[in-house]
Amino acid sequence: GNSLTHELLQIHEEACQLYHHILVNTEVGSEALAYLKQRGLTEEQILEQEIGYAPNERNLLKQVLENKGMSQQGLVESGLMIETKTGELFDRFFNRIIFPIRNDQGKPIAFSGRLFDQQVADKRAPKYLNSPETKLFNKRQVLYNFSYARAHARKLNDLFLFEGFMDVLAANRANVLAGVASMGTSLTNEQIQKIAKIVDQVTICYDGDQAGIEATKRSLETFQTQTKLKVNVLRLPEKLDPDDYIKKYGETAFYELATHHKETAMNFWLFYYELDKNLTNELDQLQYIDEVLTELAKLNSVIEREMYLKQLADRFHLSIESLQETLQQKKQALR
Ligand code: ATP
Ligand code: MN
Ligand code: MN
Ligand code: MN
Repeated sequence: GNSLTHELLQIHEEACQLYHHILVNTEVGSEALAYLKQRGLTEEQILEQEIGYAPNERNLLKQVLENKGMSQQGLVESGLMIETKTGELFDRFFNRIIFPIRNDQGKPIAFSGRLFDQQVADKRAPKYLNSPETKLFNKRQVLYNFSYARAHARKLNDLFLFEGFMDVLAANRANVLAGVASMGTSLTNEQIQKIAKIVDQVTICYDGDQAGIEATKRSLETFQTQTKLKVNVLRLPEKLDPDDYIKKYGETAFYELATHHKETAMNFWLFYYELDKNLTNELDQLQYIDEVLTELAKLNSVIEREMYLKQLADRFHLSIESLQETLQQKKQALR
């Protein structure tokens, strides 16, 4: 790459080391360190991921970078500074726990900073703050933890998609090592292309709350239009996210779930279309059957289609033939 790219990488390396040093070696970082340990992060994870803490100061990183001889252009384009109208620079991240976001080579190219719970409760600022887009950091491309998860995903031929950093890290403790998260936004086509190069299968494991269910629906639809990847879903009970689930039920339980309790995308649709319906009501029944058949028509596997057709026929006391006929019409419409 050119010299600006090189400098931006250097800046991120310096910032990463600075924040990490403050977290693990200084008194200023002790509250953040205690918080992370209370959240269940291990010493090993904190060191390996080089998690950090940006103290409550606005000139710290700026000064360190200037002392290391970094240029003003480098500082500005790193995204790690905020520029005032008068052109003055201040550190973007302060009083936040810092998660390095890495490129596919494992080099830090951005950060995500989390507030302490009390400040989240006070709603003074967003819980997570990410670096802005820069020459290094393209949010549509990057997946958190991809450089680490890649080898595990290849071996497993499966990749777990989580919503958050904490979920990726909790899953790792549960020995689910092939996990990534998108950057607080919906899954993009670029991310899917990247995933499709290393596995034939993915598992969507978003939060069990309403937002997570809707995000699962959207990601499934994005996958449908983009690839032939086999997409499965790991749905969590009680509105829990993976991190909460592991805290409540333990690492072994999550590993077991991730290994033996994934469901097909079709099974997710069966669940999804039943939400907010009263299936003893015939109008709701008809709508449900129609929605499910629309999804079934998109399935390539003949066996899978037959499996769900039989289920549907049994459940609503219909003949396979009438369902087949409707399914054929829907398939024609898709061409
Ligand atoms: P934690 O367990 O630390 O509270 P979480 O991952 O469970 O975090 P969620 O609220 O479920 O947090 O959000 C999922 C992900 O969405 C986060 O990990 C983060 O990447 C992103 N995110 C959440 N809130 C924000 C925000 N205010 N701004 C930007 N990204 C956010
Ligand atoms: Mn959520
Ligand atoms: Mn969550
Ligand atoms: Mn969480």
